[in-house]
Amino acid sequence: MESVSNSKRIYWSERIRNIEPYVPGEQPKDRKYIKLNTNENPYPPSQKVLEALRSCSIEELKLYPDPTAESLRSVIAQYCKIDKSQVFVGNGSDEVLAFAFMAFFNARSKPVIFPDITYSFYEVYCEFLNINYLRINLEEDFSIPLGKFPLDNGGVVIANPNAPTALYTDKDRIREYLERNKNSVVILDEAYIDFGGESSIDLIKKYPNLLVVQTFSKSRSLAGLRVGFAAGNEGLIEALTVVKDSINSYTLDRLALIGAAEAIKDNEYFEKMRNKIMDTRQRITEELAGMGFKVLPSKSNFVFVSHPVVPAKTLYEELRKEGILVRYFNKPRIDNYLRVSIGTDDEMNAFTDKIRKIAGV
Ligand code: PMP
Repeated sequence: MESVSNSKRIYWSERIRNIEPYVPGEQPKDRKYIKLNTNENPYPPSQKVLEALRSCSIEELKLYPDPTAESLRSVIAQYCKIDKSQVFVGNGSDEVLAFAFMAFFNARSKPVIFPDITYSFYEVYCEFLNINYLRINLEEDFSIPLGKFPLDNGGVVIANPNAPTALYTDKDRIREYLERNKNSVVILDEAYIDFGGESSIDLIKKYPNLLVVQTFSKSRSLAGLRVGFAAGNEGLIEALTVVKDSINSYTLDRLALIGAAEAIKDNEYFEKMRNKIMDTRQRITEELAGMGFKVLPSKSNFVFVSHPVVPAKTLYEELRKEGILVRYFNKPRIDNYLRVSIGTDDEMNAFTDKIRKIAGV
């Protein structure tokens, strides 16, 4: 955020005065970059999405969209083999997550638990909503120590796979954790689940305190349409609807409702593209490992890598000069790692060529 002098903040509410907002990956306009920094999908959305959007009636845009998003929720429910009363949709999974923090976590109460290294928005939501939180250190290998999560908590948030580490927590471990943590809501953020993990959506039938959140931004190539959803027990979904209807009844516009439904229906394209990304990930993992990089085992559309000699910051800066953007986090424990989104084969070849030059391998 641009710095605002104190005098300009005089009209700011106390709530936002000391907030450090989330910083999204850069979307620079100064030149054309190969963008491997925001985990977008490098491939276009399904043609069927395009066709459906083309046949939308512009006339209908004068009318508000369906505030209950019935049609999209039904398509998602069918795909997930649950009931539409168990589905909530929102303007990107960021919004769904923000609503969930408002719906299930109390201010100034027992702490909400999440790992020290995870999606940094969780901390921002807590700060914004005055929710106490406790960050549990990931193990040395960056796995999530669910056994160390205190059971006396105000809620739990787990990204699976985790970001930015890319590591997947086995579904059996999630199930075992849910058996123990029954008194607070567990949010499972499955933004990257389609790249090799197994979703826990079916577990919502057994665990009424489980909310699973997914997005159309990654595996369905629709980051620009802004659609995310949550699956959970009917009571949890109702709570999310109360939050939505206390803020904005129409979070998804008409085009988003139509486009997202078509993306779910085109399963063939979805399977083809996610497999393509997983194949490219495998190839890149081997190539980087061959150059001496440490590459964490990824079940996401990105890899988290560290070079034994060249500091990650140098790699990031040199790549940027060469027109390639990756994500560097200047944070304890991960400041010698880069998060690299999986692009097209051509993009990844350009990336490995430059890396070879910079790292001198
Ligand atoms: N969760 C995680 C772990 C993410 O990395 C992201 C993407 N930045 C999101 C949620 C939000 O994605 P979106 O709002 O595009 O659905």
